[in-house]
Amino acid sequence: MPLKKFHLDKLPAVIDRIKAEREVFAPVRGKEGVGFQPISDSNQVTLDFDNTLLSAKSTFFPPDETLLKFRMGKGATEVESRVIQTPDRLLWGVRPCDLRSFELLDRVFSEGEFRDPLYLERRDKTTIVAYACNQALPTCFCPSLGGSPTDPQGSDAILYRLDSFIIIKSVTAKGDELLELISPLVEDVTADDEASIPPREKRAGESVTKTIDINGASERLPQIFEAGYWKKVAYPCLNCGACTYVCPTCTCFDIQDESLHGEGSRKKIWDSCMFTDFTLMAGGTNPRTRKEQRLRQRVSDKFSYRVKNFGVTACVGCGRCIRICPVNIDITAVVKGALEVAV
Ligand code: SF4
Ligand code: SF4
Repeated sequence: MPLKKFHLDKLPAVIDRIKAEREVFAPVRGKEGVGFQPISDSNQVTLDFDNTLLSAKSTFFPPDETLLKFRMGKGATEVESRVIQTPDRLLWGVRPCDLRSFELLDRVFSEGEFRDPLYLERRDKTTIVAYACNQALPTCFCPSLGGSPTDPQGSDAILYRLDSFIIIKSVTAKGDELLELISPLVEDVTADDEASIPPREKRAGESVTKTIDINGASERLPQIFEAGYWKKVAYPCLNCGACTYVCPTCTCFDIQDESLHGEGSRKKIWDSCMFTDFTLMAGGTNPRTRKEQRLRQRVSDKFSYRVKNFGVTACVGCGRCIRICPVNIDITAVVKGALEVAV
């Protein structure tokens, strides 16, 4: 597996080189924090962040996208379907927790009866460059769920921050192609550079102090479906939905038609199980009118329903939902409390 390095000053040049051949999505600092964006100006790209505010899932599953356009007149409605044409793309600087989330998204969007062609096309056309963590946040708990802050699995190449240098290691054939593309801008690593990676990985792993014990959660959560526990833990919840919007593994969306003066579009937009109308049916029935029912759904989906349906726990321990929650609801504490409820 080839290893190369470049000075941080060369980051814009590296991005420009890649951008000449493909669309690049990379972290950019905005008012609210750092987030992934399609890059027009390579000077915008930053590697100075702990983790992005929103996860990288929006690169494959955008918050809002048009599926078709329509025009309604006196005759039949004219429909213009979306042509799927994704250029080759590169997703740069993904933390390992988000990398693991792609595997979970794949289960939902690519397995079984319902396959999402837009998602699959984007996944297929994207080279992924991971970015190993040096220091975990107090809210991170990826190792408890089988992850690691420096695991490149699911990427084509991984970046390591070494003070003012970035080491780039190829992991797949796509990663080799990328190294070839940027070869005029990179240099060989020294033996000292290479030897410094394992201790950094060890320190990064040791910097994760938060844990979650999910042993038995997939069986216990359905058993306490009716427990008063949910009312207690959901009491402060504002149903703002922020926890689901920042989560790399949440996959719920709604299909909505928007039209004005007979013309419109059909859109696929992110939805949230924390919203009151998420389960509102056309006849007015709503099986989840109370917030404790919605919090129970979010937690049970992550730690029980998706285990049953897809064989995976749908949490990667990124801690974003804990950081964003305005009333400090901590999913690790909710699961711990659920496991302590007597059945
Ligand atoms: S972020 Fe917190 S308050 Fe908002 S919906 Fe999620 S749990 Fe409730
Ligand atoms: S549930 Fe929370 S910690 Fe788990 S993946 Fe989603 S945002 Fe991250």
